[in-house]
Amino acid sequence: MMGHARKTTPEGGQGGVQTWTGNRGLMLEEPLLFEKGAVDRCGVDLPDVPEVKSRLGGLERHRPIDLPGLSEPDMVRHYTRLSRQNYGIDLGIFPLGSCTMKHNPRLNEKMARLPGFADIHPLQPVDSVQGALELIDTLAHWLKMLTGMPEVAMSPKAGAHGELCGMLAIRAALEARGDSRKVVLVPESAHGTNPATAAFCGYAVENIPADARGRVDLAALKARLGPDVAAVMITNPNTCGLFEPDMIAIGEAVHAAGAFVYCDGANFNAIVGRVRPGDLGIDAMHINLHKTFSTPHGGGGPGSGPVVFSAALAPFAPLPFVLKQGDKYALIEEREALASADHNQSFGRMVAFHGQMGMFVRALSYILSHGNDGLRQVAEDAVLNANYVLASLKDVFTASFADSGPCMHEALFSDDFLDGTGLSTIDLAKAMIDEGFHPMTMYFPLVVHGAMLVEPTETESKASMDELIGALRSLARRMLADPDAYRAAPYLSPRRRLDETAAARKPVLTWREPVLAVAAE
Ligand SMILES: *Cc1c(COP(=O)(O)O)cnc(C)c1O
Repeated sequence: MMGHARKTTPEGGQGGVQTWTGNRGLMLEEPLLFEKGAVDRCGVDLPDVPEVKSRLGGLERHRPIDLPGLSEPDMVRHYTRLSRQNYGIDLGIFPLGSCTMKHNPRLNEKMARLPGFADIHPLQPVDSVQGALELIDTLAHWLKMLTGMPEVAMSPKAGAHGELCGMLAIRAALEARGDSRKVVLVPESAHGTNPATAAFCGYAVENIPADARGRVDLAALKARLGPDVAAVMITNPNTCGLFEPDMIAIGEAVHAAGAFVYCDGANFNAIVGRVRPGDLGIDAMHINLHKTFSTPHGGGGPGSGPVVFSAALAPFAPLPFVLKQGDKYALIEEREALASADHNQSFGRMVAFHGQMGMFVRALSYILSHGNDGLRQVAEDAVLNANYVLASLKDVFTASFADSGPCMHEALFSDDFLDGTGLSTIDLAKAMIDEGFHPMTMYFPLVVHGAMLVEPTETESKASMDELIGALRSLARRMLADPDAYRAAPYLSPRRRLDETAAARKPVLTWREPVLAVAAE
């Protein structure tokens, strides 16, 4: 029989108390279900199965199914313990820059759970889901109004998927004019999905350098434009948390060279209601509904990435889409279904059905409960909060582009202030865990050494930001005074420093029964 192996907590360091259970206070250790249960145990009382004549023609299972048997309380505790090991926005501030981890109003959830939205099926007859189609059409209208763009594709299922949609439309538009340009230009600071998308569409990716202010180097961009360039993919506000002031000049230069401007609109939260991307000369832009319009995300949770298009790209937008015909809503799923020439150059379909309905309901609920003025205030408060963090930390942390004025919705620091201590961004992030904070985004964007990107979002109060700021100021002071005390942080979490590279590169995704060494008698 297998002895009950106890996991004692690691010793040493601050708060290095060892416990017999491995639990740390009320943070409970939790093994896998397979380790907890036994395959020869059953969690429920069932009567013996009566003898029946098998009609499976010899296909019945001959060995046990090897699922662990657990009682209901065992199961409930298992999942409850796991859920408590999770950090989420409902637990505390989630300062992950680039991710816009804002509060998700419960009203959105209530709306998304209305049976008329939650229980419909994508294959239901169109005349039985008119309300759902009206909702998609209303949301599409808002997105077009807020961006000043004439067309929107609702079906892409995340930001990266939206990028793919936009780039496929650009490729279709180029092909329609017999143009086979092969290069996409991407600024150095771009989110990794941008070059990945361009490469996935078969383009060669070339970097455009940033200038000293953390913005796209306009002269370098102009110098590289030519008949081989299909598009420029640009993020605005960019991933350094800065507005690209040359956007109109960039658009004019790109269009003059016969190319298209793709804008990564994941940071729309900082400008919604204040700037219409359509006025900046953008041809295609995805909007992360799960960031700007507050739907739960993270950990691979559902996203939604509608793409708005300029008039030049509108005819190439994907199928399907909702079209109001008289007082009915139709779902256009085939190119041929359209009498008008509006969409007859559509590049086709990207998803099996019509998009992320639950996300659409949440996003529209968020938009309607804020209204025009409320959405504008979202952007203003998001920018105000980020600048509060920047101003409150820049005397102890190293602000990356402090000379280029205020930031947009996120504040960027480097780890230069730790120079000489042997500590870096990772050590600060680990120490934050002991203080009860989820770390900020680390080592991104790559253009800044040891980058720390903090995005408080507009839904954090001054009090909650002050707590984060207080902890970060205190950590900066303590790490400089006694660097050795921070090399092995965190001390208080159930797990300490993990081999994150191995975890990402060689994840152990299946449980295997441990092979027990047979002890010599
Ligand atoms: C989040 C993000 C993306 C990707 O969006 P997903 O929904 O995660 O696919 C792309 N670009 C930027 C700047 C982002 O912040």
